[in-house]
Amino acid sequence: MNAILPRYSGTIGESVAHDAVEVEIMVDDTAAAVAPPAINAAATKTDGLGCHAGKTELSAAAKAAGKSEILDRYAADYPKGPHDQPQSMCPAFGSLRVGLRMRRTATILSGSACCVYGLTFTSHFYGARRSVGYVPFNSETLVTGKLFEDIREAVFKLADPALYDTIIITNLCVPTASGVPLDLLPDEINGVRIIGIDVPGFGVPTHAEAKDVLAAAMLEYARKEVEQGPVQAPRGGRSERPTVALVGEMFPADPVGIGMMLEPLGLAAGPVVPTREWRELYAAL
Ligand code: SF4
Repeated sequence: MNAILPRYSGTIGESVAHDAVEVEIMVDDTAAAVAPPAINAAATKTDGLGCHAGKTELSAAAKAAGKSEILDRYAADYPKGPHDQPQSMCPAFGSLRVGLRMRRTATILSGSACCVYGLTFTSHFYGARRSVGYVPFNSETLVTGKLFEDIREAVFKLADPALYDTIIITNLCVPTASGVPLDLLPDEINGVRIIGIDVPGFGVPTHAEAKDVLAAAMLEYARKEVEQGPVQAPRGGRSERPTVALVGEMFPADPVGIGMMLEPLGLAAGPVVPTREWRELYAAL
């Protein structure tokens, strides 16, 4: 996939509104069949410290809890440079708002209450007119593995295909450091895609990288779907010319300007990833 990286901008003021809906969902009995994951109890002692202290400890705890691979990947993909990590609010806001902007997409956060408070406050400050799901925990549910079961149950309850195409679950600092294994969640429930990502402040430098983490997870999922058979065409139909996908967020006029630059090359501007709708992802593959 070719990519053009635009300047960073954006609010979530154009979020698609969803009214809150009560849903009655059957919880799959197989939930009980999943073995409780190994949990790193030491990480619970540093609750909420990911963004201003204790990064080293949390990072070590996460590696001990089996998250080495993803943290090493983040470190390789997102080198921090001479200034380490800029002071900003929780990086996870970058991925949270991506989900909040997508149609028929539900988002669930798993993290300390103070982190979730800050993230949801900022989301609504920027106009996210829909709910952010939250699976709370305490030391006991974290240590015993009950948190993972709670997340799993929440996902099953929320996975109503009449309402959602996709559910995104995000591990914040403490659940990541504790090794809560979102990769053990089903890939799909009742036709609703389930995507779990780790976005710890001690592994993901800024909003931009957090957004990329989610965009990459969605593209990977979409790629597997394409490989399995026909998928929905983009809403506007397929382009007649080869397209260049645009990665990042842009001002509304950017794709137009980029498209004009691409035209002499016989190319067209493709979708802007992250997209506003799942089916648009296929055009970026
Ligand atoms: S999840 Fe975000 S707000 Fe919470 S400790 Fe980590 S970086 Fe800070």
